[in-house]
Amino acid sequence: MTRHTARTVREAPAEARQEAVRRWCGTHRTRIAEMVGALVQVPTTAPDEPAAHALLTGYLLGAGLWAEIQKPHPGLTEHPDYTAPFLPGAPAPRDNMRAGLRAGDTLPTVLFSVHTDVVPPDGHPEPWSGRFDGTRIHGRGSADTKNNIVMVVEALRCLRELGLAPRANVLVDLVSDEEAGGTGALSTILHGCPVDEVVVLEPTGLRVHHGHRGCVGFEITASGTTGHMGSAADRQGPVERCLRAVDRLRAVEERWLDEASTTPGFIGVARPLQLNISGITADSWHGSIPSSCTLRASLGYLPPRDRDRARAEITAAVLDPAGRSDGLALHWRGIGNDGYVGDAEGATARRLRDAARTAGVDPGSPQAWHVSCDARLYARHTSAETVVFGGGELALAHSDHESVDIDQVLAGVHVLVEFLAADGG
Ligand SMILES: [Zn+2]
Repeated sequence: MTRHTARTVREAPAEARQEAVRRWCGTHRTRIAEMVGALVQVPTTAPDEPAAHALLTGYLLGAGLWAEIQKPHPGLTEHPDYTAPFLPGAPAPRDNMRAGLRAGDTLPTVLFSVHTDVVPPDGHPEPWSGRFDGTRIHGRGSADTKNNIVMVVEALRCLRELGLAPRANVLVDLVSDEEAGGTGALSTILHGCPVDEVVVLEPTGLRVHHGHRGCVGFEITASGTTGHMGSAADRQGPVERCLRAVDRLRAVEERWLDEASTTPGFIGVARPLQLNISGITADSWHGSIPSSCTLRASLGYLPPRDRDRARAEITAAVLDPAGRSDGLALHWRGIGNDGYVGDAEGATARRLRDAARTAGVDPGSPQAWHVSCDARLYARHTSAETVVFGGGELALAHSDHESVDIDQVLAGVHVLVEFLAADGG
């Protein structure tokens, strides 16, 4: 009896809070789904991220946050981690947004970073519909990663409306250009990032990651002489020489995957790095030899291997497998995202995993993510512990059937409320 009373006193406030958050999420379910849909309806493929700034400003102010537009930092393009534009038209860096909520001078600051850009529709039948079918919101960016903008803003609104005191000041950076290398996040960091904890919101299916792999993009070009197929001196033309390079890249991938089984943060992660061939270009008459072939590819790698070392090993494998270049040229084009691995048992990672469990969500075992994102920039260029978390399933991100489950978004709201609420709040 005594034991029961003690348990009730200790646990009743937390249980009451969870019940209140669940009720709040239920009440606001349709409105929250429609807000995700409204953001999806604004096409923000790079360089059009600023098209959403008016909608976002009204939304943030309406939820009680302050919000401002931030110009690209003047030192951005000189920074060693700046990614040169590789999209058509080589767009210049765009504005970003910073929003926030002040809770108290003596409290720590938690930064949430969410990207506003989305990849092109690529066959999605309703990329900008934002349609809510009662269960899922459809369209490009619904999973990756506009649901996460709404998730964090609604968590802050929920805290306020339920009268729950936050344990920290909150900043929300809404950054451009994540998909093409992280220029937006780098700019906001250069503007100043005096924060204690960073949560980069990405479609991890609400699993908590304390690091991620790296990735480099590149192009391989094989050149030759055009002519009639009957006149070819060499049996292998530019297309086949590019395909041979793919075999050598697969061998590098295989070797790095073997190492992964003992790499901290990635032990037990299924396919923690991947080779992706995203394009091949060559064209000639049926009976003719094309003058060149260009292959576009990306290859992931795991820390502690860094970008320079990864590039050197790829170069050696592709261009010089047996002391000859095979008539190939290699150009670094695309992203050059380093990876990082933080502390699996860091205070932020632990707090977020605990918050997930409290909210009834499985945060997964402590592992790094098998995808790169902006988190490595915060891990490297701020002193804050940096983790990756968020709503949306990676299997749907960038796909022609991208959508997000509203109940997962609401579960994420609950996790962030638990993560941000002061103990006993
Ligand atoms: Zn993303």
